[in-house]
Amino acid sequence: MINLLDFDAAGLADWFAQLGEKPFRARQVLRWMHRFGIDDFEQMTDVAKSLRAKLKEVAEIRGPVPVRDNTAADGTRKWLLDVGNGNAVETVFIPEANRGTLCISTQVGCALECSFCSTGRQGFNRNLTTAEIIGQLWHANRMLGAVKQPGVGDSGERVISNVVLMGMGEPLANYDNVVAALKLMLEDNAYGLSRRRVTVSTAGMVPAMDRLRQDVPVALAVSLHAPTDALRDELVPINKKYPLADLMAACRRYLENAPRDFITFEYVLLAGVNDSDADARALLALTRDIPCKFNLIPFNPFPDSGYRKPSAERVRHFQELLTRADVVTTVRKTRGDDIDAACGQLAGRVR
Ligand code: SAH
Repeated sequence: MINLLDFDAAGLADWFAQLGEKPFRARQVLRWMHRFGIDDFEQMTDVAKSLRAKLKEVAEIRGPVPVRDNTAADGTRKWLLDVGNGNAVETVFIPEANRGTLCISTQVGCALECSFCSTGRQGFNRNLTTAEIIGQLWHANRMLGAVKQPGVGDSGERVISNVVLMGMGEPLANYDNVVAALKLMLEDNAYGLSRRRVTVSTAGMVPAMDRLRQDVPVALAVSLHAPTDALRDELVPINKKYPLADLMAACRRYLENAPRDFITFEYVLLAGVNDSDADARALLALTRDIPCKFNLIPFNPFPDSGYRKPSAERVRHFQELLTRADVVTTVRKTRGDDIDAACGQLAGRVR
C-alpha cells in the first residue's frame, strides 16, 4: 500500500499521472488530506466515485499512531507517536497569545551526540519518512480542531501558525524527507504556511544548509552553543567536520536567499561551561558580520546530564552583554517542562 502522506504536491501529481489521472485530481486529494485532514477516500465528495474506489485499492492515508497525549499546566501539549518496532517520537504544540507553534521531530533519535541533549544520548535508530514528518502536523491539526472546512475560504487564520523543526533529530541529516515535508507545509493546497514561519534548526550541517537555500529557503536557526572551536568540538561534535569558520560562511550564504534577513543563533546556557562574560564577548566577535538574533536557552536538566543551568541572574547578565552590543537577544521561555516537553527533553523511545 502506498501512503499518500509520503508525497509532496509534485510527487502526488506524478503518481496520479501514472494512474492515468489528471493533475487537478491530485490537487483535490492533496486538499482533502492536508487542508481538511481527511483520511477516508469516501469523504472526498468531489472526487469521482470510480477514482475513489481505485484509490482505496492501491493507496491509504495513514497518519501517525498516538500512544500518549499530555497537556502541561501552561497549555503546552505533547504527543508521543508510535512509529513502529518499539520506536516513538514526540511532537509538541506550544500555544501563545498571538501564535501557535508546533515543534516536530525528524528522526528517531539523533546521531550527532551533542553532549547536553537527551535525544543525543539515546543514539540513532532511523530517519522519519515524509509521511511521519508531515503526519505530525496533520495529526496535530486534527487533534486541535484546526482543520479547514470544505467550501469555506481560507481566512488565513491558523491555529498552528508556526512550525519549528526542533524536536528529536537533525533535520538536515534527513534531507530529502524533510524537504518534501517542508514543501507541503508551504503549499497552498496543503498547509499554506508562510516560509518566514517555518524554521529549520540545525547543529550546522554546512553542505545541506547550502542545498536548503536553493531547494526551499525557510527561516533558519543554527544551534551555536559555543564561541570557539575547542569548546564547540566538545559540545557539538559535528563541529569537527564543519568548524565555526565554515559554519559562519554558510550562514552568510544562506542569508542571500533567506525569507528573513537574519539567522537565529540558539545558544544553550550551561553553567560554568559557556556562560562567562568572555564567552559572550567571543560570541559577539564571531558573529559580528552576520545579521543575527540570539535565542538563549537555559539548560533544561535531565537525569545524569552532568550539566547545570545557570542562575537567572547569570542568564540575564549574559543576555545584557549581547543586547548592549545591539544584538537582539531573547531568552527562550521554558514551556511544558512538567511533562518533559521542554527543549532537549524530548526523548520518545529509541530502540
Ligand atoms: N538537531 C537540530 C534540531 C534540534 S533543536 C539542532 O541541533 O538544532 C533542539 C534545540 O534544543 C537545539 O538548539 C538544542 O541544542 C537544544 N537543546 C538540546 N538539549 C537541550 C537541553 N538539555 N536544554 C536546553 N536546550 C537543549
